[in-house]
Amino acid sequence: MEYKQNLHTHSTYCDGKDTPEEMILEALNRGFNSIGFSIHSHVSRSSTLIIPLENIENFKVEIKRLKEKYKGVIDVYLGIEYDLYSDSFEDCYEYTIGSVHYLNTKNGIQGFDNKLDQVLKYVDEHFDGNSLQFAKLYYETVANMPNIKKFDIIGHFDLLTKNNELKRFIDTNSQEYLSYAKDAIHALKGKMDIFEVNTGAIGRGYKTKPYPDKELLKEFFINGFKPIISSDCHNKNFLDVYFDEAKLLLKEVGFKSQMALIDGKFEEISL
Ligand SMILES: [Zn+2]
Ligand SMILES: [Zn+2]
Repeated sequence: MEYKQNLHTHSTYCDGKDTPEEMILEALNRGFNSIGFSIHSHVSRSSTLIIPLENIENFKVEIKRLKEKYKGVIDVYLGIEYDLYSDSFEDCYEYTIGSVHYLNTKNGIQGFDNKLDQVLKYVDEHFDGNSLQFAKLYYETVANMPNIKKFDIIGHFDLLTKNNELKRFIDTNSQEYLSYAKDAIHALKGKMDIFEVNTGAIGRGYKTKPYPDKELLKEFFINGFKPIISSDCHNKNFLDVYFDEAKLLLKEVGFKSQMALIDGKFEEISL
């Protein structure tokens, strides 16, 4: 039987549109076995999105309440999407996603997860218009994740390509770009073995394919990483957007299984 889960879910406690309970009801509608909530962490140096510490505390209380309320109906997990530049890291979560949304540029810590015109401005201002230098620093930062904390899941591995389908400002087929990305995969190997196949940008109209790119999926496969499909959901209508297609894509690359959090432990389930 198919096991349906999404562990990368945002809600009104950060930048999502729906309350956790609305998300749970939608998950039940769609036949989910389980849902995990991953609030954004507190990054006080953020120039784009600062989640108040109070929201994070209230979020923990609410998810624990819902976990009890829906016991036996749907498994609810308390998680977090940590940015590498978070102010602090706690041990109170049932799972963690590690993501890079900010880079330590020559002008300090700056966020790049933005609309296309903002990203182009970002590359101009902080990398003198050189998008490959942007990619280099991005992947060096991703590669450094395990030195900060061994997160359970590598979040949207090639997030910097979010707007690249709308306007090609990074040549993702170039040897230079691919070598930066593959070096990061090799640095993560054996330290953080679960990577996310993130379909979130499809629901929001930025991309037509999930992260990571197929070429990088192959590199993850060759190096023995394990995938987990997630929708990085900010709107309940897209809770399982592109899940079936993502499974097919993984099978094409050679994967036979994906990971799921079951009874609090990561297990392999067939695709
Ligand atoms: Zn993210
Ligand atoms: Zn997210």
